[in-house]
Amino acid sequence: MKVTILGNNSALPAFGRHPTAQAVSVYGEVLLIDCGEGTQIQMQRFGLRWRSVHHIFISHLHGDHYFGLPGLINSMSLLGRTAPLHLYAPAELKPIIDAILQVADTVLSYPFYFHALQEGVNLLVDDPSFCVTSFPVEHRIQCHGFLVERKTRGRKIVPERCSEYQIPSAYYESLKQGRDYERKDGTVVKNEWVTEDGPAVKRYAYCADTVFTESFLPVIQGADTIYHECTYLEKDAAKATARFHSTATQAATIAKKANAKQLLLGHFSSKYKELEAFREEASAIFPNVFVSIEGTAYEI
Ligand SMILES: [Zn+2]
Ligand SMILES: [Zn+2]
Repeated sequence: MKVTILGNNSALPAFGRHPTAQAVSVYGEVLLIDCGEGTQIQMQRFGLRWRSVHHIFISHLHGDHYFGLPGLINSMSLLGRTAPLHLYAPAELKPIIDAILQVADTVLSYPFYFHALQEGVNLLVDDPSFCVTSFPVEHRIQCHGFLVERKTRGRKIVPERCSEYQIPSAYYESLKQGRDYERKDGTVVKNEWVTEDGPAVKRYAYCADTVFTESFLPVIQGADTIYHECTYLEKDAAKATARFHSTATQAATIAKKANAKQLLLGHFSSKYKELEAFREEASAIFPNVFVSIEGTAYEI
């Protein structure tokens, strides 16, 4: 499971950095989180296929988080997409998209489902391989974070060893669930002889645009990787609070309190050209921290 950063800047594009968008890859599925201007171009650039995207999540309706969406959904239609697409976003986005399609007399080539985000903590997608939950963060307008959880697929079959022990492939599902195999003569093939540990459960918390708050800590507690915005450095903390954003120190404090394993920083203000100071500031509190770089895929 990994997350590819498509945009790591805040409101304005600057120094070659784009507005917010990221792609979480889980077992071949690509979950798009936020869709700032230029997202489809960044996807092309970094080799992310729109055919692998079936779910898009928009945290809030500041333009730097969704202005790339009309272009992307339109391109998918022009390219003849037929697979359904699910969009999870604040309710106010629905009439905006409807109007854009209507004035252009565009009928999408694929089924498009809009799911309005609700207040509180809500399970949005419950797939056999992963699930996504929304949670409230505190920003100037309604804003949601997303918790993506990769589910385990059970034990991993080692085919060579299975054939060595002559286990029929029809029994593989039971092996995945950890069962031993009993032959007709009563001898038992132990599960661990023919399987290995499968992929572990992983949790990625995207904390969107938010002022420093511990309100959502219970939801993201113990996450493998947390992405937390840090629009500003601590010396601009007053500005951060006034604009409902966070600093690198505050992002690191949240990661530490959540007992996360790894922290990704992003949503940098366009006033900063160099980003190393963000890493330095945060690492004093939470050492395993990365300044998220566009085009980089971080293992979760
Ligand atoms: Zn933003
Ligand atoms: Zn915002």
